[in-house]
Parts: sequence; structure tokens; C-alpha cells
Amino acid sequence: MSGFDGKNFIGGEWRPAASGRRFDQRNPAFLHEVTGTFADSAAADVDAAITAAQAAFPAWRALAPPKRKAHLDKALREMAAQRDEIAAVITRENGKALREARGEVDSAIKEMDYQIAEGMRLCGQTVPVEVDGTLAYSTREPLGPVALVTPWNFPFNVPCRKATPALMGGNTVVLKPASLTPRAGLLFAELLAESGLPPGVVNCVTGAGGSVGAALVGDARIKAVSFTGSTPVGKSIQLAAARNLTPTQLELGGKNPAIVLPDADLELAVAEIVKGAFACSGQWCTSTSRVIVLEEIADELTERLVAAARGLAVRDGTAEDCGMGPVCGAKQKADVLGWIAKGRAEGAHLLTGGAALDGEDYDHGCFIAPTVFDRVTPAMAIAREEIFGPVLTILRAATIDEAVALINRLPFGNAAAIYTRSGGSARAFADRVNVGMVGINIGVPVPREPFSFGGWNQSRFGAGDITGDDGIRFWTKLRKVTARWPEDAGAGVPGWH
Ligand code: NAD
Repeated sequence: MSGFDGKNFIGGEWRPAASGRRFDQRNPAFLHEVTGTFADSAAADVDAAITAAQAAFPAWRALAPPKRKAHLDKALREMAAQRDEIAAVITRENGKALREARGEVDSAIKEMDYQIAEGMRLCGQTVPVEVDGTLAYSTREPLGPVALVTPWNFPFNVPCRKATPALMGGNTVVLKPASLTPRAGLLFAELLAESGLPPGVVNCVTGAGGSVGAALVGDARIKAVSFTGSTPVGKSIQLAAARNLTPTQLELGGKNPAIVLPDADLELAVAEIVKGAFACSGQWCTSTSRVIVLEEIADELTERLVAAARGLAVRDGTAEDCGMGPVCGAKQKADVLGWIAKGRAEGAHLLTGGAALDGEDYDHGCFIAPTVFDRVTPAMAIAREEIFGPVLTILRAATIDEAVALINRLPFGNAAAIYTRSGGSARAFADRVNVGMVGINIGVPVPREPFSFGGWNQSRFGAGDITGDDGIRFWTKLRKVTARWPEDAGAGVPGWH
């Protein structure tokens, strides 16, 4: 891992921002510790990166997929070799427990392997047609230079998840990583660069979303945008891309519920809900943030959830016994505390947590106690809005119908879980709940390949899925060819009569 401090990766070179401006990033567990200094880029740097990606496109698209694969395989091997070092970078920038950071790199490796293989199947079709001597066939073609705009909660996996199918599809890439976690994105770009990719095939520009991200997605030379982040920013990206009719793929926010029925295995339900609510300090788009429990078991479940939340060791992510790390940065901490204050003001019952942690281990970081609110009502903002922090809200329902209605009334549609021993209840839930990813006795139902990750409604928008066997399709377009050969075809060619 090398000296990219203060620089972007553009056209195969590490370059400072044209303005010379830089910004510092800090470890959320120890805010006095600067994790790196990064290029504070602007439109001129984005322009240079798109120009480089455009220049590199003709040669990269002409390279046969097996040759593209050779580069990506090399990067993948290096990623596996550097797994622990990459995980340490993620923990320093994002704060998540090292165990979770290693899991993130492992997922990136697994998904990259799958997507490289998918990229070897860039198949078109041939079809019979009614006219004699006529052949109709299609080929899959790349789009051109494309933009990837990524969040800080999976700062390594999301860039990898987007770049691999884009590159295997023959596109060139400009990546804009989140400003809170630029090193993880730059590291990914560096791994690709060191695999010998031609200059300009991968570019990475750091800086603020409102300047770098907006300039990137609004540029007419960009032929597709893949974004993962919040729903409001996703909407603004969709508007900007629409001006150039640029296709988008938007993976957005969520407010993920878990229903617990009276026949559930409560031990399993509590373990899964606590993991879903507090892993990565509740900063997954699939984090469980609402429990909807039927009245008859509400008190028992609530008691158990509170005990489990209190039992989590909140620590710096590198600590062996870290059960939950800090939230990702001072602004995130202030935002989450703001939501907690709002919950109290709305009249929800705070059962545990509800404050920043203080004391020697916590004073220099962004630590918030795992928080549980009970007696939350559907109208409260903490029941409706994505908090993106270690805050679990509990709502009570009289019937399963009421619980499902509570889920379906929100505009989000990422993930939902049910805890029950009844196959009939589980199937009815899966049929009726208006979300893209359903878990049955599983809190965070990330789909397994070949299924694709992705929610519905305001949690996801755009053509083409992001992972699984659909991942590659978004990054290519079909050319349809209808061919008729003259009757004297072959004439004049030795051996043909
Ligand atoms: P964010 O929307 O604030 O930022 C995401 C990225 O967009 C960052 O790189 C940011 O710099 C950039 N950006 C910000 N404003 C921009 C603009 N005007 N134009 C272009 N780019 C801009 O999100 P975040 O805080 O980094 O991440 C948290 C959010 O991401 C949560 O809402 C979470 O649910 C969501 N998320 C969704 C998924 C999913 O797959 N559905 C996965 C992870 C995170």
C-alpha cells in the first residue's frame, strides 16, 4: 500500500488536485489521529479523469474478455494476499470492528471472483428468421466511460462490486469514493492499477460529493452511473443524469423491519436482531432498525433485546472483544444523537443507551451506546426515517396484518425479516411484504449469487441489478445485427465454387 496521500489516480498517474487543495481524514475511534490527507478535488480534476477514461476506452473495449480477466484476476490475488492490511484500513477509516472489516474484504473477494466469471459470458444470441439466407444475431457491447459513486459504510466492497462488472464489460471507470473513507477506494484503484491495467482504464478522484460527485454524474461523456448512498442524494443524481439520458443504477437507503411472532425461537430472534441492529453501529443499508412485535410476547422480547444491547462491548474496532465500534465520524455522531433526542421528544420510551459514551476509552471518538426505544408509534419520525446508527425502535402490533401494513406503508423497500416457526406465516409474509430482500429467521437477508443484491421502491432505482448474474447486463448494451449475404458469397475465394 503506497504513497497516494494527497493524490488522485488519473490516467495511470498519482496527481494532486489541480487547485493543490487537500483535506484530512480522521479515525472515528480517535479523532486526533489523522488517517490520511487526500486531494480535495473539483470539476477540473473530474474533467481530467473523464478525459483519461475516454482516451483509454477504445483499446480497453477491443481487448478480449479473457485478457481483461487476466488483469482482474491478478488484482483479486493481490487483494486476497493483502486481506488483513485492507481490513485494517477499513477499520481505521470507518470504525467498524476488524472482524467485520475482514468480512467486508472476504465478501469483496467472493463477489469479484463471481463477477469476473460472469464477464466471461458476455454472450449475444443468434435467432432464426423467416427470410432465406438471412442471419440475425446480437452482441454485447460496452457503454464507454462510466461513473461509480460510493458510500462510506462498505468503503472497499462497494467500489469493487461496481467496478468489476463494469470493467469486465469493457467500460472504463471513474470512481468517486466517499469523503469519509477515501483511502479504501484509492486502495482498490491501486490494486487494479498494479495489475497492469492500461492508463486511464481506472481513475479515482477524491473530494466532496456536491462538487466532485455532481460534476462527474452530470457530464455527458459519462455513459452510465452506478451510485450507492442515501435516497435524497440518489434522487439528485437521477435528476442530473436524466439531463443527458444517462442510465443509472441507484442503491439507496432503507428502514428495515423485523416482525417477531409469538411462535418464534426468541433466542435466535434476539441474536439476529441485535446483530442486524448494531453490527457496523447500525450503518448498513440492511440494518434492522424497526422491530414489530405482537403484543403477547412484546414484554419478553423487549427485555431480552435490552439485555443483549447492554451486553455489547463498545470499543475501538481493533480491540479483540469489540462488539460494536464508533459511528463513522463527528457529523454522523451528531446526526444520530439528534435522532435520539427527537425520539425522546416524540415520547418514545428510551430503555437503554440514548447518549454518547464518555470516559477514557471514548472521549476521543464517536461512540454512542447501543440504544433501544420501546412504545414507538408509526407516526414518530424515528419509526419512519432512516437513522443509520445504533438505534433500534420497537413497535407493537395486535395482529400480523397490522404488522405487515406497518411495513408496507413506508416508501423504503430494502429488507424485511420475520421470526417464526410457522412455514405458512413465513410464506404469507414473504408474499405480502413490499421489499426486495426477505429474511426468514435471518436478520440481514443478503441474497446469495446468482441472485442480485437490491431493494424495491425508494431503496433502489434503475435498470439492471448490481450483483449476481445480472450484474454485467447493466454495463453493456445489445447490438442487433441482421445480415444477408449475396448469392455469389464465396465466389473468388480459393476452394469455394
Ligand atoms: P450519501 O448519499 O451521503 O453519499 C454517497 C456518495 O455520494 C458519497 O461518495 C458522496 O460524497 C456522494 N455525493 C454526495 N452528494 C452528492 C451529489 N450531490 N452528487 C453526487 N454525489 C454526491 O451516503 P453515505 O452517507 O455515504 O452512505 C449512507 C447511505 O447509503 C445510507 O442511506 C445507506 O442506506 C445507503 N446505502 C445503501 C446501500 C444499498 O445497497 N442500498 C448500501 C450501502 C449504503
